[in-house]
Amino acid sequence: MLLTITTTHKPATDLGFLLHKHPDKFQSVDLSVGEAHIFYPESSEDKTSVALLLDIDPIDMVRGGKNFSGKGFSLGQYVNDRPYVASSFMSVALSKAFSTAMNGKCAAKPELVNVNMPFEVKIAVLPAPKGGDILIRRLFEPLGYKVELKRHILDEKFNWGESKYFTLKLEHTITLQELLSHLYVLIPVLDNDKHYFISQNEIDKLLEKGKGWLPSHPEKELITQRYLIYLRSLTRRAMEKLGEEDEKETISEEINSEEKKKKQTLHDKRLALVLEELKKTGAKRVLDLGCGEGKLLKMLLKEKQFEEIVGMDVSYHELTKAKERLYWEEMAPRKKERIKLFQGALTYKDKRLEGYDAAAIVEVIEHLDEDRLISLERVVFEFAQPKTVILTTPNAEFNELFENMEAGSMRHSDHRFEWTRKEFETWAQRVAQRNDYKVKFLSLGEEEKKVGSPTQVGIFSYGS
Ligand code: SAH
Repeated sequence: MLLTITTTHKPATDLGFLLHKHPDKFQSVDLSVGEAHIFYPESSEDKTSVALLLDIDPIDMVRGGKNFSGKGFSLGQYVNDRPYVASSFMSVALSKAFSTAMNGKCAAKPELVNVNMPFEVKIAVLPAPKGGDILIRRLFEPLGYKVELKRHILDEKFNWGESKYFTLKLEHTITLQELLSHLYVLIPVLDNDKHYFISQNEIDKLLEKGKGWLPSHPEKELITQRYLIYLRSLTRRAMEKLGEEDEKETISEEINSEEKKKKQTLHDKRLALVLEELKKTGAKRVLDLGCGEGKLLKMLLKEKQFEEIVGMDVSYHELTKAKERLYWEEMAPRKKERIKLFQGALTYKDKRLEGYDAAAIVEVIEHLDEDRLISLERVVFEFAQPKTVILTTPNAEFNELFENMEAGSMRHSDHRFEWTRKEFETWAQRVAQRNDYKVKFLSLGEEEKKVGSPTQVGIFSYGS
């Protein structure tokens, strides 16, 4: 699958500066399922073309379980059009290869960013659903593009008729940033076999890339629907946002995010401490049990020491968020080899958890009913038996210092209990004793004389 962008702007070599890619260099970027290559078939003052060539590996796609194509017949996962057509992979490739230009930045020649240039774009090949030619025109023509389409027949030798594949030529005089944002949104709109899952993140991307043109596009509803693959609730939310922004809402969002920031600082400290303690143990293979949205996983991935990282959570929703945070679908294959994410409950014995050097259980136990803790204890300490377990939980005594908390309430609506230091230490000592671990305690956050620190930490070492 090949996309070329050509300009006859004078000097046409400005395209290289704008794209932040040197015309003499052949460059490649990793995608989750292959590579994208960037090169210039032509570069002169009069005319410059840049090409983005997608090299999708269908086997990689099968392995990653990302193959939505060819559903319904078993070979379909190997025999499909993904490697050959422009799809949502193209959007990922565009945003990876040309991120600077897409964000409207150009360090070398900032004045170029707002210059309208004559562009010709060729995409070979583009799949389109029934009535594809009309749809393609409905998408691009309102934005001012001159559209030329060539529909491919299925096979020249046989009379099989026309395929759903087109070669598309577009012409327009606009800024490069506008051009790239149009392509980023509209290519996957034509191809409903989106390879990555759809989430809130997708709405944000759509709104960001559609800024300045999508709200006034006559087909904004169709584009939004198809971009979000007809997921109704997401589409509705995106349409609402495309409408007038409610001022009040924006303000309250800002306040909320301020509050969030404050809260995060304690959580960030907590995660930083857990990371440091994990590093100190020399662990190479680590578990993050109840990983939630994957903050710790992200930090672990940055450290080369950790060769194998596992995130487990009972909540599919949290795992989805973790994938977003980690840019799972765009993660380079080498990195991806180091990390596994799966759904599982800490109250059921699980072979997948055996044989690890260390486990982190950060702010998880208080989400379980107290009478289920015995199961967690056996699953983690008796069966999985990592050499080190680093476990954190709130210190209930500290709660009286939180200004907004009512007396006797807990920090989170899903908390089933919050323990005093004595309660936690008694539990932890017993767990250690029964399972041949030693435990030491750390406190985390600002320590107050009478009540201790907001978070308590137990570090369990096997057999020592
Ligand atoms: N460790 C993360 C998330 C803490 S929130 C962090 O510090 O950011 C608690 C998490 O524990 C939630 O994501 C919840 O889904 C998960 N959880 C609750 N009960 C669980 C169980 N029985 N097994 C596995 N995970 C569980």
